[in-house]
Amino acid sequence: MKQPEGLRTCAKCQATTRAGKSCRSPAVTGKRVCRMHGAFAGAPRGKRNGSFKHGGETQEAVALRREASALLKRIREDGITA
Ligand SMILES: [Zn+2]
Repeated sequence: MKQPEGLRTCAKCQATTRAGKSCRSPAVTGKRVCRMHGAFAGAPRGKRNGSFKHGGETQEAVALRREASALLKRIREDGITA
C-alpha cells in the first residue's frame, strides 16, 4: 500500500515512546509533538470549556477576591496604617 505524500513529508513527533524509540507520528501543526504526546495538554480554558454563567469565577474576579481578602487579613493583623 502506498503511503500518502502528506504523511511522508509532514513534520514528525519528536517525543520518545515508552519503548524507547522515537514516535514519528505526524506532529500537530505548529507543535513539535503529536496529539498523543501532549500537543493538546489539558482542557481548553474559559468559554471554550463551557465556563462563564455569571462571571463570578473568572480569573479576574478570583484575583480581585483574593486581593481583597489579603488586604482584610492585613488590616485585621496590623490594624489600619498609612
Ligand atoms: Zn508522538
